[in-house]
Amino acid sequence: MKRYREIYQAALDKWGVEAQYDQAIEECAELIASLKHLKRNKVDEQAIINEIADVTLMIGQLTYMFGEQKVEDAMQAKLVKLQELLNAR
Ligand SMILES: [Mg+2]
Repeated sequence: MKRYREIYQAALDKWGVEAQYDQAIEECAELIASLKHLKRNKVDEQAIINEIADVTLMIGQLTYMFGEQKVEDAMQAKLVKLQELLNAR
């Protein structure tokens, strides 16, 4: 995360907040579409990997924008809940 912060801030400075939201939405939609296509053998694994990379970068961008610690705290809370669900089985 640290090594991307400069790039995330530069993207924000250049294109602004709204454009980052739009880009995140677009990349998520592309990953969704690619996974659908994978199920029908219309794309290969590399296409999915590329879309995962796009989404991962945009999640990094959003995390930078909303606060890394806040996202980390929310993730930890969700992991605790997930672990509880797994233990309940
Ligand atoms: Mg993409």
